[in-house]
Amino acid sequence: MRIILLGAPGTGKGTQGKFISEEYNIPKISTGDMLRESITLETKMSQFIQSQIKKGKLVSDKIVCDLIKNRIKKKDCSNGFLLDGFPRSIEQAYYLSESKITVDYILNFVMSHEKILDRISGRRIHPQSGRIYHIKFNPPKINNIDDITGDSLVLREDDKTETIKNRLKEYEKITYPLKKYYLNQALKEKLQFLEIDAADSLINIKNKIKSILKNNR
Ligand code: AMP
Repeated sequence: MRIILLGAPGTGKGTQGKFISEEYNIPKISTGDMLRESITLETKMSQFIQSQIKKGKLVSDKIVCDLIKNRIKKKDCSNGFLLDGFPRSIEQAYYLSESKITVDYILNFVMSHEKILDRISGRRIHPQSGRIYHIKFNPPKINNIDDITGDSLVLREDDKTETIKNRLKEYEKITYPLKKYYLNQALKEKLQFLEIDAADSLINIKNKIKSILKNNR
């Protein structure tokens, strides 16, 4: 099963992606996570990536397409995969299409920008595991502490309000057109495009996704 999670930052793609990955035993491939990991290498390229992320700007299509190309070749993707945060531009979607990388489902997470700002500013992450919490909607058992390891949680640098606003601008300008693109593709290919009300509760979204994917286990 191959799935793409579309939608603006902060709509819960990462949280639901983790659930789908565990439930259906397919790797969750997040270009955001891969880029953040690459920053630790301290090359010239990683400095550029870090400054783009910090500004809330997208990094170049070439960089992320190369990351995806190498990741999808790995053995654990033979059963399928879930893409979280890729594609984020029409050019990246063309890359998938030209590389004959087909997908079965596009799940488009929809939420107002006002709610997104609220959601992202309360988000806390455990960087080592990728676990995501929210101070109001999905709090850890102990304030600011990861439930499993006891490590401190962090606010991502690009989850600060000014950066979020830039990320949302980038989304509207560069990523939003993918909705039209994939709606069109769904008319031509064996591909299902489904909208998820991302403002719904975590459990309702989980159940909706389960019912969408139940015939594909
Ligand atoms: P995310 O964790 O998916 O919100 O991504 C964090 C940041 O990484 C984004 O704001 C972008 O700067 C960069 N990024 C992640 N995925 C992509 C992509 N597919 N194309 C371009 N930039 C990306």
